[in-house]
Amino acid sequence: MSDCSSDIRARRRSVEVGSVAVFPDAKADKDQARKILEEAAEAFGAWQRYASDVETGEGMGFPRHARVTGSFDDLADELADVVTACMNMACAIGIVDFTARMEECAKRNRTRGRM
Ligand SMILES: [Mg+2]
Repeated sequence: MSDCSSDIRARRRSVEVGSVAVFPDAKADKDQARKILEEAAEAFGAWQRYASDVETGEGMGFPRHARVTGSFDDLADELADVVTACMNMACAIGIVDFTARMEECAKRNRTRGRM
């Protein structure tokens, strides 16, 4: 079940993340870069399961009895994994505060008409 109603979603302009704990041994190497992709793929899979249950009520081409059902928590957990993987890489390249970077990203998105 969602903890963000549609009314709240319509008014919301940001999502609070807070401080992200990072892995102490994360390195800026190919394994860490690949981890971001893996977590993103897991988030996509969780979204497919979530969307197929919540939005369409149908499976993604699989018989209903043969598929794993998704949940809000599964999707939210995978999104958290993506953020952690990204912040592990950020930490590994020496970033300790990502706030300004996210503000610059928001400016770019506003310029592009996405916000
Ligand atoms: Mg994951």
